[in-house]
Amino acid sequence: DLPTIYFVTPTYPRREQMPELIRLGHTLMHVPKIHWIVADDVYQCNVHLDSLLMEFGIPFTHISSPMNNIYRHLKNVPRGVANRRAALNWIKSNNKSEGVLYFGDDDNTFHLRLFSEIRHTKVVSMFPVGLIGNYAVSSPVVREGKVIGFLDSWIAGREWAVDMAGFAVNLEYLFRYKNQVTMPYKAGYEEDMFLRSLNLRLEEVEPKASNCTEILVYHTQTKKTKSPDIILPHSITLSSPS
Ligand code: UDP
Ligand code: MN
Repeated sequence: DLPTIYFVTPTYPRREQMPELIRLGHTLMHVPKIHWIVADDVYQCNVHLDSLLMEFGIPFTHISSPMNNIYRHLKNVPRGVANRRAALNWIKSNNKSEGVLYFGDDDNTFHLRLFSEIRHTKVVSMFPVGLIGNYAVSSPVVREGKVIGFLDSWIAGREWAVDMAGFAVNLEYLFRYKNQVTMPYKAGYEEDMFLRSLNLRLEEVEPKASNCTEILVYHTQTKKTKSPDIILPHSITLSSPS
């Protein structure tokens, strides 16, 4: 029996939200044994999003997870943190202590082979992410099948210089630290402090993607369109008075 992948996607209302989620949903439709946790940065779940998620036929959980306003005013906004924390709470309170957790943002690009790579994660697996920083890649450095360090153009004192999309966590392992696992509202340091909260040791990290020689996930970013920010629903009715 294949372990389930809990694929956690933070999202937020803007013009590009629906198209991003259609694209991602159509990727995930190709993946067996997946549970999609879509955590929206809103006070109330958007019904248009609900019906879109229903259309894919993927098991999903739709969560409203608004960022506290105090964080929106920071110079560096911790994007997606309230969402991921809410998803972690859902996993914990529903006792999903088997399977694998992965943080997949709504604008990233995922090769289907990524899923078969991360599915059998025993502790924490790591792999390259394309389109990160000045080097255009962020990757574990592997020697003789073991991760010995990280290549990333922005180390910034991080013990774990990895992108959010560059690792997956076994849930049985995560549950050993369920009372201390956390993600901080500190832009740039979310991954590092999350992995530190799991007491992870470098020796335990499992390199994936052919010893980190393949890029199976890309940090693509969609060009933002002009304000005003409107939520473009998936189905619209343009009608004129008859
Ligand atoms: N996000 C969010 N609220 C925001 C901004 C972003 O929930 O106010 C989500 C977004 O949908 C994405 C993740 O947080 O899944 C990271 O944001 P973004 O892609 O804008 O950041 P980048 O990848 O450019 O660093
Ligand atoms: Mn992004």
